[in-house]
Amino acid sequence: MVRALVCDPVDEAALTLLRDAGIEVVYRPGISSEELIGEIGGFDVVVVRGRTKITSSVIDAGRALKIIGRAGTGLDNIDLAAAERRGIVVLNTPEAPVNAVAELVVGLMIAVARKIALADRLMKEGKWPKHELLGTELSGKVLGVIGFGRIGRRVAEIARAIGMRILAYDIIDIPREVLQQTDATLVDLDRLLSESDFITLHVPLTDDTRHMINEERLRRMKRGAVIVNASRGAVIDEEALYRALREGWIAGAALDVFEREPPVGSKLLELDNVVLTPHIGAETREAQRLAATLLAERIVSKLREMRLIG
Ligand code: NAD
Repeated sequence: MVRALVCDPVDEAALTLLRDAGIEVVYRPGISSEELIGEIGGFDVVVVRGRTKITSSVIDAGRALKIIGRAGTGLDNIDLAAAERRGIVVLNTPEAPVNAVAELVVGLMIAVARKIALADRLMKEGKWPKHELLGTELSGKVLGVIGFGRIGRRVAEIARAIGMRILAYDIIDIPREVLQQTDATLVDLDRLLSESDFITLHVPLTDDTRHMINEERLRRMKRGAVIVNASRGAVIDEEALYRALREGWIAGAALDVFEREPPVGSKLLELDNVVLTPHIGAETREAQRLAATLLAERIVSKLREMRLIG
């Protein structure tokens, strides 16, 4: 019997789908890395979200491993080179969290522009700071989207409906229909940085995008600009971002992702002009259910293709 080890919390529907296909499922959300190395040997499939790291040691210990399933997008917690060397198939569900992340990004932009988090905090301290919270509107402003893939495009669609003008930057050619649909203008990074009122990052974390937003690029942004990051923490140099926010090179930021998670001791936690969320981009019921069920379906169909289940 094919055996699957599920290492992170996933929607119940996915476990049912796997079991209904005749797979023995062992559900161990919260398993430690040492336990994982000790136990992985007896499994054909391992399922993770973002927490569990599938390192080369885990892959070496997974002697029977044929499929690594990631319920979600980023594969940065999986040693892809090690998996490839062993011929292990890696499956993920990048389409599942698109809406969830895009809606969070728009919410974060509004939260920074209207100082919602600060207002909430001050009111709970018993204050009524009506005249200290003058905000700005999104309508009529320029939104720069860095990385015009699935999530970047969805953010652009929503922002367009709010009345923002969209500038997009990507390293691949974006089809004309996509640009028309979102009313976006493709520009180079310099122009995007200098003309945008809001900038949102939607690139994967790669050697090229690590610290892509560094001191020099932060200094090129408008003084009143706001930057939002719900991609991967290390895309921004957080030290430089702290100085930019502290010294007023830019007006504000919103971060869902951090170079180190949780960002214990980060100086960004001290600033009022930054809104922080604990990597909740994909944390909606809808996105989690979709990620889990899509992944389970993909695992079942791959195992059928491999003729390991009927
Ligand atoms: P995607 O692959 O659909 O789009 C990424 C785009 O970035 C592509 O068009 C690609 O060409 C472009 N790109 C790559 N390198 C680039 C570079 N150096 N400069 C400019 N553009 C570049 O990915 P997606 O599904 O839209 O996801 C985007 C990001 O969101 C990823 O980092 C992913 O890990 C992250 N994400 C975060 C959460 C969260 O919880 N906050 C959830 C899901 C995804």
